[in-house]
Amino acid sequence: MRIAVVGTGYVGLVAGACFAESGNDVVCVDKDDTKIRTLKRGKIPIYEPGLEELVRRNRAEGRLTFTTTLPKAVRDSSVIFIAVGTPQGEDGSADLKHVLGVAGEIAKAMNGYKVIVDKSTVPVGTSEKVREVIRRATTHPFSVVSNPEFLKQGAAIDDFMKPDRVVIGAEDARAQELMLELYAPFTRTGAPIMVMDCASAELSKYAANAMLASRISFMNEVANVCEVVGADVDHVRKAIGSDRRIGNAFLFPGVGYGGSCFPKDVQAMIRFASDHDYEFKILEAVEKVNALQKSRLFAKIKKHLGSVKGKTVAVWGLAFKPRTDDMREAPSIPLIESLVAAGATVQAYDPEAMKIARGLFGAKITYSSSNYDALKGADCLAIVTEWNEFRRPDFERMRSLMRSPVIFDGRNLFTPDQMKQSGFTYYSVGRS
Ligand code: NAD
Repeated sequence: MRIAVVGTGYVGLVAGACFAESGNDVVCVDKDDTKIRTLKRGKIPIYEPGLEELVRRNRAEGRLTFTTTLPKAVRDSSVIFIAVGTPQGEDGSADLKHVLGVAGEIAKAMNGYKVIVDKSTVPVGTSEKVREVIRRATTHPFSVVSNPEFLKQGAAIDDFMKPDRVVIGAEDARAQELMLELYAPFTRTGAPIMVMDCASAELSKYAANAMLASRISFMNEVANVCEVVGADVDHVRKAIGSDRRIGNAFLFPGVGYGGSCFPKDVQAMIRFASDHDYEFKILEAVEKVNALQKSRLFAKIKKHLGSVKGKTVAVWGLAFKPRTDDMREAPSIPLIESLVAAGATVQAYDPEAMKIARGLFGAKITYSSSNYDALKGADCLAIVTEWNEFRRPDFERMRSLMRSPVIFDGRNLFTPDQMKQSGFTYYSVGRS
């Protein structure tokens, strides 16, 4: 099949590369000229494990190309994916200007029947808006499909190649058949392709992210209660996770959720429910809890040090989660901002997000060359992202580098016993 993917970000680039890998001819379109030039040079503008190799292979085979010219990409393709950003608008709702803008551009370039697939996360009713925009600008026949994406950054290729399910909102048989054919190679292992109406498909994505965000906020509150009553969240987590109705995934307390999806999608769901006169009370609480959780690590540091003014704080982990360089809404940002505002010197290290961090913080913090380098002369260490390489450090070396051996572990990487034996004052989440 000849496919165009408009928006070559985390989702578009992965989707484009994976569709090419399954034998399709794919052209990835982006308005960002620098991004497209980088990709044409064989370089990947983001960090995502396995992606560079996949892109290189499919480019070499001639199945994957990149362009900034949308009209030709549309003319040459039968299926066009929209995978542009849907950032949070000022009132919390999803801003659809990129999605609807691209829909309009596609419409103007159409030269025959096209299937236009919305892969961006969009509120219920967007496929209807896309349909309307296209209908106004062309007389050519077309179908609009909603196909929300469930991949996780850091494991995006695997998630795309072996999805738990594929959700397709399609309201005509022709488009449905095309989508089933396109996704057949990814669902051979038995993952279901779920065909439904567009509204249900659109809502499924928000409901999934809202449920996951709720689990995180719920466990963060359980951990906070553990701290005040003297229980251990690790025991509690295992005890409840073994209940098959609950399951073990997504039960780890931490420093609050971040990233480009959960915060904005929770907000957007609250907003579009309220646009229909429905107050989504649980999600309002989920958001509030998350904001508080993001401030707890700083509060613990301040309480221990008395004042952070003139103190040096090492920070391990800047990306919003491991295996990505993405810092959108990362919990490291409010922590570092609070530390800097209170007069601390921050020495930060992340295996992949240093470049993005430099763009965000400039000269306000020090950028270390390794996790050990960040510890030099530090009054304490704050662990924000659970990168695997932080899990088994040389504690003796750490102690010798730090001014005082104090760790605030926002990800529970170590056990309190282990840290006591290693001579550290250790604060974690939900454990005494
Ligand atoms: P991104 O910001 O990484 O990429 C979006 C790309 O779209 C950018 O490269 C931008 O330049 C391009 N773009 C914007 N307007 C354009 C236009 N008019 N023409 C061409 N290109 C244009 O975003 P992302 O993280 O890939 O997310 C895209 C969508 O997928 C969002 O709706 C998001 O909520 C959803 N989503 C993201 C993830 C994730 O893990 N990142 C997972 C599932 C769904």
